[in-house]
Amino acid sequence: MNNNNKIYNLATIGVQQLIPYKAGKPIEELERELGLTRIIKLASNENPLGPGKKALAAIELALPSLALYPDGSGFSLKQALAKKFAVDVNQITLGNGSNELLELVARAFLTPEFEVVFSQHAFAVYPIVTQAMGAKAVVVPALNYGHDLDAMLQAVTEKTRLVFIANPNNPTGTLLSQSSLNAFIGALPDTCVCVLDEAYFEFVSCVEPINSIDWLKKFPNLLITRTFSKAYGLAGLRVGFGLSSLQLADILNRVRQPFNNNTLALVAAESALDDKEHLQQTIRVNTLGMQQLTDGFKKLGLEWIPSAGNFVLVNLKQAGQPVYEALLRKGVIVRPVGNYELPNHLRISIGTESENQQFLTALTKTLANV
Ligand SMILES: *Cc1c(COP(=O)(O)O)cnc(C)c1O
Repeated sequence: MNNNNKIYNLATIGVQQLIPYKAGKPIEELERELGLTRIIKLASNENPLGPGKKALAAIELALPSLALYPDGSGFSLKQALAKKFAVDVNQITLGNGSNELLELVARAFLTPEFEVVFSQHAFAVYPIVTQAMGAKAVVVPALNYGHDLDAMLQAVTEKTRLVFIANPNNPTGTLLSQSSLNAFIGALPDTCVCVLDEAYFEFVSCVEPINSIDWLKKFPNLLITRTFSKAYGLAGLRVGFGLSSLQLADILNRVRQPFNNNTLALVAAESALDDKEHLQQTIRVNTLGMQQLTDGFKKLGLEWIPSAGNFVLVNLKQAGQPVYEALLRKGVIVRPVGNYELPNHLRISIGTESENQQFLTALTKTLANV
């Protein structure tokens, strides 16, 4: 080992063994690599309509104040969120993306003696934040690609400090019923914090309304995380938030950086909350796009996993990575999910009608080897 490599031995054991998060390929990177134009990216579940007008106007207005530090308490955004969700402002924790909430909760609660329970095929950030703290990940086999709540409960012991659940789940798009989730959280020991990751809840259209916020009244160990990155179209600004008991919010607040949300993110998020039209349009485009893509899969004889989110996993019945690479050469970036133990699937984020069409055309050609 050369001298430069010795520094790896100085990092904590957890970090030495950590495999970093692999993000969707940026459009600019593919442009550089292949010299292509007209590239589309359906790889990171971003909003194909972009940010809303109200958010953009708020950003413009805030630009002259950028020499000043942001409001570290996020007062105004938290007021708006508190009103919208009928919670106390002090139950809200703002994060630099909801990813930061996942990291804060890990940092506040985990040491190497503890365990973290989450499902197979669950969001890739859960193992990363667990590993970074040197805690032990207990991965519970999925049931029909979704969370097996009974098996997860069985896996919880007195050593379990955290449970992560994404509903809908990314990358599978599976949705748990509200009653099963409610029962699951109620059955957890009070030594265990439950993180309910609702990054995609705005897209859920089922008969049963999502009422997880009501559960905060009875579960002091529940952290709900939500984000402005997906339905609100502000992924580039990094804003998410946690809703929890006052006590759990107080704990998270102790480990957060004083200015973890920047000024533009704060004002844009607050205005986006107010932009019902953009949200409705986003959901409309998503519903139509989901239909367009699944109709296309049907024509190609491909199966998919029914998804409650703004993305869908298609089963290629062959290795996904080469198809992913062939699509790249046609200027279409999607997401291979071999790292989620789904080697034969690709995850497609729902795009605009023309993006979906461009993808389906490229997929059809790829599968026909042209
Ligand atoms: C996209 C995503 C997030 C959050 O992303 P942020 O941009 O950090 O808010 C969280 N959880 C899941 C399951 C996601 O897919």
